[in-house]
Amino acid sequence: MRGVRSDENDRLHALSERFLAAKQFSGTHGLDVSERMQVEIAAQACILVLELGLAWYEGWSEIIVYPSQFAPEREVVDEAGVVHLTHDAMAGEAWLGGPVILSYEDVAMTADEEMRVAGYNVVIHEFAHKLDMRSGDPNGFPPLHAGMNSGEWKRVFSGAFEDFTKRVEAAESLPRRKVQAALDALPIDPYGAESAGEFFAVASEAFFETPELLAPAYPDVYAQLALFYRQDPLARLARST
Ligand SMILES: [Zn+2]
Repeated sequence: MRGVRSDENDRLHALSERFLAAKQFSGTHGLDVSERMQVEIAAQACILVLELGLAWYEGWSEIIVYPSQFAPEREVVDEAGVVHLTHDAMAGEAWLGGPVILSYEDVAMTADEEMRVAGYNVVIHEFAHKLDMRSGDPNGFPPLHAGMNSGEWKRVFSGAFEDFTKRVEAAESLPRRKVQAALDALPIDPYGAESAGEFFAVASEAFFETPELLAPAYPDVYAQLALFYRQDPLARLARST
């Protein structure tokens, strides 16, 4: 993480050690989740709770790592009540009260300077869902700290979500050859338009990875996330450049 102070780094390291002692890793398809891979995942997961504490990750212990993206067979019910069987490839998943599942190929992408996609971090994304799930189904409304205003949170996030959804829809309705460039130009991952819960997870990824894009686009979201995570990644970035 860019601009992390040495005292922060020491605390992150200590937190990661405790995280590793509390969680069990397992690989699928013969993947051996090496110590280096575990440390890499732990450090990214712990960035979110650096100022909150590990208690936020209590109540579950399993981290399942796939070698690459996985496509579980799922039944989903659409708006018309019709059940569909889906096979969508996924980079990660977080279960309420259950495991976090990650594609290692996607985890590794974040660490690789050549491969990284700005703002994309599957570990931060899935662990943000875990924080959100402290108050039940992931709906973009994690438990807030004393002194934070839940009405303000709701107003800021629902306003930004609505605006972002419109921007994604506008990009998608362009002539076909222009769609991808328009989606790439958005300040955060278009996947954030899926639901309020995904918007929170995607905004959290951007908060830590590309705060210089999130803050000017959605300053109120940045401010609420700074209160929630008790961190200021923009200030960190200013220190590192
Ligand atoms: Zn998600």
